[in-house]
Amino acid sequence: MEIEQSYILNKLSGKIFEVITASADVLQVETYVIGGYVRDMILHRPSKDIDVVCVGSGIELAQEVAKRLGKGAQTAFFKNYGTAQVKYQGTEIEFVGARKESYTHDSRNPIVENGTLQDDLNRRDFTINAMAICLNRERYGELIDPFDGLSDLDEYRIKTPLSPDITFSDDPLRMMRAVRFAGQLGFFIEAETFEAIERNRERILIVSKERIVDELNKIILSPRPSVGFELLEQTGLLNLIFPELVALKGIETKEGIGHKDNFSHTLTVLDNLARTTGNLWLRWAALFHDIGKPRVKRFDNKLGWTFHGHEFKGMKMLKGIFQQMKLPANDKLRYVEKLVSLHMRPIVLADEEVTDSAIRRLLFEAGDDIDDLMSLCEADITSKNPEKVKRFLHNFQLVRSKLKEIEEKDRVRNFQPPIDGLQIMEMFHLPAGKLVGELKSAIKDAILDGEIPNEYDAAYAYLMKLAEEKRISADTSLQTDLQ
Ligand code: ATP
Ligand code: MG
Repeated sequence: MEIEQSYILNKLSGKIFEVITASADVLQVETYVIGGYVRDMILHRPSKDIDVVCVGSGIELAQEVAKRLGKGAQTAFFKNYGTAQVKYQGTEIEFVGARKESYTHDSRNPIVENGTLQDDLNRRDFTINAMAICLNRERYGELIDPFDGLSDLDEYRIKTPLSPDITFSDDPLRMMRAVRFAGQLGFFIEAETFEAIERNRERILIVSKERIVDELNKIILSPRPSVGFELLEQTGLLNLIFPELVALKGIETKEGIGHKDNFSHTLTVLDNLARTTGNLWLRWAALFHDIGKPRVKRFDNKLGWTFHGHEFKGMKMLKGIFQQMKLPANDKLRYVEKLVSLHMRPIVLADEEVTDSAIRRLLFEAGDDIDDLMSLCEADITSKNPEKVKRFLHNFQLVRSKLKEIEEKDRVRNFQPPIDGLQIMEMFHLPAGKLVGELKSAIKDAILDGEIPNEYDAAYAYLMKLAEEKRISADTSLQTDLQ
């Protein structure tokens, strides 16, 4: 592939590049824009950060650039790594001196020394990421492409510049990067590179969970996440980093009856959702929605294959998986738990006969995540029968309008019962505990079931009646074992 010089020059115009050139020339240091920025520029993809390598001190170059950019530039120096970052008008520019890396087999961290541009390109992960463009005035716009990355860009190929076994063994995260770039860019992984991933897959276990999750997030956020996950599965990486997902794979047949392959179903749901949302955690929820299925699978003589309760089993598995993978065990976990546990609920509400109270309950439990839940449920329709798909979508339309109607009428979406646990404890001199919880949820249930309106007086009267039935008096102290 040839690339027009005028295209490069055009892309490298603008104040930032002018300033880098002037700085590099005044310091007399050979300077290049390198890696992802060059790749994306040739692919006509937008790219936010600029990586700059100079054969000398990246920190000094960054200082000069920041000085010339003036007030609008924010600079951060990472002296230990010899890198510096300059932020200017929303663009991040990273400066580093060209380096040579050598790995020893028993250490994860390479020995880093100063090196030439060629040394620096040798340590890069893929040929398409190992191109540089000179920014010095005299050679402005000159493309350095020692591994013919241009041809690989042209032919959509992911390939390591040097021996793939060494490249992957040195930094095994590169195996996931190969998969991620294949998915993001719509490229394929060249055969030798692919085989080396299969051979070196176990090495992924020395990589930190945080780096792995970073790549997984990028795969999940790509336009068609199934591409990356299929590749992870085919190379054997997925089984090492996310075995619960691989457990969904396969079709078992009994008495001539098979069930669907829940791995490819899950990926289809994820792809469906990727068309409608960029919400990372909603996409994770899609990946997890059927995760409990293998553990509850049964064959019933009358019903065939059943997966009863898989949504609860799945929800219960999440905490452990989040811990294992070092996913954030905070509100994100709770959000995914909620979506997984509720994902079977809307379908039964599509029935004409469904009561307002069932709808109120779902609204209450899903709260502000009700729309996300509905999107997940719609994405979950993966039948190949167009009639069925039409019917299901129509049903969900029905559920959506019922939800809307009830929410407008009763406002239960973010509802808090008018009497809380603390008030109950004070009223009856009760210590925190099971009994308080029971009284509290009795009030909540009465409201959701439409027995009483969502008001303090009604709730108070209801509570008093309940207390009388349970023989709890408002004056006696500490009645822990009364029920
Ligand atoms: P993106 O920014 O979209 O993730 P990128 O290619 O710019 O893609 P970065 O992680 O920003 O990826 O890295 C910038 C460049 O640094 C890459 O293009 C590649 O040349 C090099 N690089 C990054 N990580 C590695 C690695 N683990 N091994 C080898 N080279 C790497
Ligand atoms: Mg980048």
